[in-house]
Amino acid sequence: MWRKLRILLLLLILLIVALNTYFDRVYSTDWNIPLRVTVYPINGDGSDNVAEFISQLKPDRFQNLEAFFDEEASHWGIALEQPVQFKSAPLLEKNPPALDRDANMLSILWWSLRMRYWAWQSPELPGAAPDIKLFVVYHDPALTPTVAHSIGMQKGLYAVVNIFADPSMTGSNDVITAHELLHTLGATDKYDPDNSQPLNPTGYAEPDKQPLLPQDYAELMGGRIPVTSAESTVPESLNQVVVGPITAAEIGWHKE
Ligand SMILES: [Zn+2]
Repeated sequence: MWRKLRILLLLLILLIVALNTYFDRVYSTDWNIPLRVTVYPINGDGSDNVAEFISQLKPDRFQNLEAFFDEEASHWGIALEQPVQFKSAPLLEKNPPALDRDANMLSILWWSLRMRYWAWQSPELPGAAPDIKLFVVYHDPALTPTVAHSIGMQKGLYAVVNIFADPSMTGSNDVITAHELLHTLGATDKYDPDNSQPLNPTGYAEPDKQPLLPQDYAELMGGRIPVTSAESTVPESLNQVVVGPITAAEIGWHKE
């Protein structure tokens, strides 16, 4: 009896999450009005260095990201000016729930429910509610030389973005932020998870280029610029990144 009840409860939760996800998606990718993104900076290691870095962040630091989405969306036939608009929230004092590296299906489900709740209860800025919340966790490269994978939930319209508190990495931080943002809109990864090599042709910016390699640009969800069939480099900024046709279609960008 108790067992059946538990299963029923779990199914009910899954149903609610699934419905929620469906509506989130429908609303966020019709591109009739600009997508509003609120960015919450978080001090990932609690260090003074990161605190200092976050206190120096400028409210207009999203100009490159906004220009990137403006250009790419208009390339794919979206007539909106500034299709994605970013706003900065003040420093968030709480870290998002952590996900174990060896998490299984059930613990991921449990984590995603906690994460949804955590994202939902994060303080809202005055004005219209955001469509998407990005939790940007800054780390001191001296304390944390490699950061956990960023997670852009394809359900829930929020992402946890792990980046470095280092001014010289602003460009690559922007690329990671844009990549995770598109996950929340339904874009899928287009690289081999074993070696981070972009998939040919879907993860290539110019799959018809002659000769094919080396490529000059990265496809945003391919993540890197293919140099040879086994090597690729990390783009230094969004200037070296484009949104390819499959990614564009996944997020609802279509040429009329
Ligand atoms: Zn990804």
